[in-house]
Amino acid sequence: MYELFKSPAYENAIKQFEKACEILGLEEWLIERFKIPQRTLVVSCPVRMDDGGVRVFIGYRIQHNLTLGPCKGGVRYHPDVDMGEVAALSMNMSWKCGLAELPFGGAKGGISVNPKELSLNELERLTRRYTVEILPIIGPNKDILAPDMGTNPQVMAWMMDTYSMTEGYTSPAIVTGKPVIIGGTQGREEATGYGVALITHCALEHFDKKLPGMRVAIHGFGNVGSHTALHLSEMGCKIVAISDVYGGIYNQTGIPVEKIIDTVRRGGRVQDFKDADKVTNEELLTISCDILIPASIGGVITEKNSSQLRCKMVVEGANGPTTADADHILEERGIPVIPDILANAGGLIVSYFEWVQGLQEYYWSKKLVFKELKKRMHKIFKRVSYYASEKKVSPRMSALMLGINQVAMAKKLRGLYP
Ligand code: NAD
Repeated sequence: MYELFKSPAYENAIKQFEKACEILGLEEWLIERFKIPQRTLVVSCPVRMDDGGVRVFIGYRIQHNLTLGPCKGGVRYHPDVDMGEVAALSMNMSWKCGLAELPFGGAKGGISVNPKELSLNELERLTRRYTVEILPIIGPNKDILAPDMGTNPQVMAWMMDTYSMTEGYTSPAIVTGKPVIIGGTQGREEATGYGVALITHCALEHFDKKLPGMRVAIHGFGNVGSHTALHLSEMGCKIVAISDVYGGIYNQTGIPVEKIIDTVRRGGRVQDFKDADKVTNEELLTISCDILIPASIGGVITEKNSSQLRCKMVVEGANGPTTADADHILEERGIPVIPDILANAGGLIVSYFEWVQGLQEYYWSKKLVFKELKKRMHKIFKRVSYYASEKKVSPRMSALMLGINQVAMAKKLRGLYP
């Protein structure tokens, strides 16, 4: 069965899961149940291209676990998307929902496509067809979609519209991360990055350090990376290096984040900024800095480069950026890793707020959204750090154990059907 999902991302997720289960002493039947996602849907999406031809794209929607409530998870558009990666990400979402004590199970979706190669019309047709193909298993009380790498509020708007057209009425709660004007929440777009900045602050305080003046390097400058950079620089950090898929820049005196965000929004690249040295994505990871924030694809901190990292702390903005082997090396080197399911939970939490607002058709102010987000992020950080010192485990193990335990307890109470 595991063969079906065979991929480095899935194997990594299983390795970390098994380690957490061993320390938790979780019962064997639960371990077996949680290793395999509950539902896996593979779809093929034929799309009429602008030149008149037809291309068929493969898409996935995987629901890892429905014990705590409807499933929740992003949809990724990236050429490397495969079933194993989506399964791993859906599993991670289950533990993230458990850790954040939200009434959701974990899910993830994706299409193997490079969205940059498609025109806007082609992207819309692909998105609408994918939404229709996964229709049997989604719904505001079944499985709620969200943005991830390569998708954005516009893509969410098309998904919401497609679902609503098939239902015959507007259904805002089917997706989160949609534009505010059609029922999105204030603050969702920057929520993940703001959350990463909040957790970075908590982590530094935990180690008796102060945020102002900290040198930060960020790998990936999309939704998560750019908003993390913006919030951390507003909090007084010096952003010394950033990168996108085309390469990075480095300036030890600091990089003007807003300028680069403006360039990227207008279709430019990070390296278009000339007042900095050019670095490759690989070089950026080993730059001397205080905090390294991977905020792009998974598996970038590996067994190979982890011994060369020159940061004092890693805060995972991306999902699964550190392999299990690299994690072990960093632990031995005394470099704390603040794990993804804690550090980037801000997006999920504000997605939960958006879902609640959509169901109630009653909308909150940005001030309220961020106040509630901050409260919850601080609470989760405290739980993770307290549990880590009580059990003498790493922050990753602590977060995973808390998340897994939440789902396991609910599973035991609900029992097996039939
Ligand atoms: P995005 O598409 O907005 O941005 C991705 C960034 O990574 C871009 O700058 C892109 O150029 C860069 N990139 C892509 N491939 C790269 C590579 N091989 N090397 C270096 N850089 C590369 O995506 P995002 O929404 O910011 O998501 C980034 C990560 O954060 C993903 O792992 C995603 O799962 C995770 N995440 C996102 C959210 C969210 O709310 N968007 C929430 C939680 C976690």
